[in-house]
Amino acid sequence: MHKINCKKVLEDIYKDVSSKENKGAIATYIPELAKISPDNFGICFLSIDNEEYKIGDWQTKFSIQSISKVLSLGLAYKIFGDKIWERVGVEPSGTPFNSLIQLESDNGIPRNPFINSGAMVICDMLVSHLENPKEDFLAYVREVCDSDQIQYSETVAASEASVGYRNKALCNFIKSFGNIENEPKEVLDFYFYMCSIEMNCEELSKTFMFLVKDNFKTTKGNKVLSNSKAKRVNAIMQTCGFYDESGEFSFKVGLPGKSGVGGGIVAIYPDKYCITVWSPKLNKKGNSYRGMKFLEAFTTETELSIF
Ligand code: GLU
Repeated sequence: MHKINCKKVLEDIYKDVSSKENKGAIATYIPELAKISPDNFGICFLSIDNEEYKIGDWQTKFSIQSISKVLSLGLAYKIFGDKIWERVGVEPSGTPFNSLIQLESDNGIPRNPFINSGAMVICDMLVSHLENPKEDFLAYVREVCDSDQIQYSETVAASEASVGYRNKALCNFIKSFGNIENEPKEVLDFYFYMCSIEMNCEELSKTFMFLVKDNFKTTKGNKVLSNSKAKRVNAIMQTCGFYDESGEFSFKVGLPGKSGVGGGIVAIYPDKYCITVWSPKLNKKGNSYRGMKFLEAFTTETELSIF
């Protein structure tokens, strides 16, 4: 790869970002997430050339939340192919992740699979197809990560379900347009569990290497997505991965990526590397404050961005 001492650059940026004020706020709307220490800050960088650099709290598991939406999209895309685009779009929404506003004029077709509404339609497809949706999805994630240590957090799922009025409204609203086949209760249960998956930075980077590696395979060599489908998933991450801050992330970092309200961000340079940053305090758009700062500095200093 690029003749750059990535290890040193990563360590220097880590020190620099750590020395500055940690702005933003933890996502408290899910009560269980409010219990996380705001000072956690972890990094895991993996490259196609087997470089592996880990810094800070990279071993601590956290709630991957919306990052899981890339995995559910990948599985649904593999099962249903291009038929999924009849029920969900591929345009950035420009609205917050949990917004109801466009669904009315769009007749219940969510703008993309990474906002909550779009992820619910994808969950509905999986609930219709999988025999045991929760078990089967977890088995798929474990296979992609090549680890049987990945679990749902029942506590986080229950915590979100107990306050998930907006998500319940979204799911019921889409159902009213006929774009949810199953009972909203069942779809929401699957959705809350999916979002509750816990991983550490290393597990997340290992999982997402399937969007980096030659031929889009797991470390065991199993094909996760065809090259053309992987291209499209990366493209949606590039345009829609950061809620209504997707343009800003693309502008500052220049990589496909996905964030979650647990404070994780995964970013990918197809054919080169995958990096996970975790820091729980979120900016106003719901993306990790330090994660954004870290990645902007990293691709600026190394010039390892796709543009
Ligand atoms: N489970 C979260 C929610 O539905 C996911 C949001 C996110 O990470 O963007 O609110």
